[in-house]
Amino acid sequence: METVKHIEQHSVQPFSTPVVGRFAPSPTGRMHAGNVFAALVAWLVAKSQGGRVVLRIEDLDAERSKPQFIDAVQRDFERLGLTWDEGPYFQHDRTEAYRAAFEELVAQGLVYPCFCTRADLHAASAPHRGEKPVYPGTCRGLSSEVRARRAAERTPAERLIVPDETVAFTDLIQGPYAQNLAHDCGDFLVRRSDGAFAYQLAVVVDDAEQGVNSVVRGVDLLCSTPQQLYLQTLLDLPHPTYAHVPLITAEHDRRLSKRDKDAALDALLARFSTPAGVIGHIAGLTGLAPTDEPVTPEELLAIFDLSALPTTFPDLVQIRWK
Ligand code: GLU
Repeated sequence: METVKHIEQHSVQPFSTPVVGRFAPSPTGRMHAGNVFAALVAWLVAKSQGGRVVLRIEDLDAERSKPQFIDAVQRDFERLGLTWDEGPYFQHDRTEAYRAAFEELVAQGLVYPCFCTRADLHAASAPHRGEKPVYPGTCRGLSSEVRARRAAERTPAERLIVPDETVAFTDLIQGPYAQNLAHDCGDFLVRRSDGAFAYQLAVVVDDAEQGVNSVVRGVDLLCSTPQQLYLQTLLDLPHPTYAHVPLITAEHDRRLSKRDKDAALDALLARFSTPAGVIGHIAGLTGLAPTDEPVTPEELLAIFDLSALPTTFPDLVQIRWK
């Protein structure tokens, strides 16, 4: 029978331990309005509870991460007044920690090699509930002979076996959220075929090691959270609180991307004259402030109310950029 696991997170308030939030940018481009908004809320959530913020540069994807963006993202945070108290930590320094966690999962007998190509995956998995493709388990049952033969031909990726179990938790913004790991997600990657450890594994290991107990990020990552909660349980790591902010979208509800010139930070600074002008526009647009007058994060902190978060945003999923 299917089981439902309700994940006990840190209590929202009062926190028994100091709140540690994080900025976790991927240095694959300049920040856009959506990244600024998520970082602003992460900062407000931590600071409003007397907490700290860790900066972690998520450069796991060596091909897409660029040195110039590592510098740029830090300068962008500084200019905006989004200060951090610890870091930057870099994922490229953390391979041994990811390997140790990976080996622990292997020792639990929960990891298997996957030889599916991108094309195989595309053909085999229909996107489910508009969220993400569900891996159908193609390589789960391969015999050791087949595995050995195929591994001699090319290096496989590695997947984690998930149980037929529903993981349920309460998001500080989105409210109750549940996902059946087997049906909504499927066995997921913990290492890619190029040898890089997968995002889900790295983020869980990093959050725990860096003491992060408050995760604030875009709602596009909401559907990754049950996977991360499951990994935390397997690795005996604490569960942070999660708050997934709406995405800021461009025209026709297209997601903003780091290539969107109109909402990239340089364009925003040119349009709104000052960092406070940019923060003010984003705060007004998203309901964090009553007007879109220029404002600093420090000034917003004075009016920020953590308990009003879910009712603050005009839409929980997407807010149209203006
Ligand atoms: N590095 C991811 C990004 O820039 C965020 C990952 C996370 O917050 O867990 O979109």
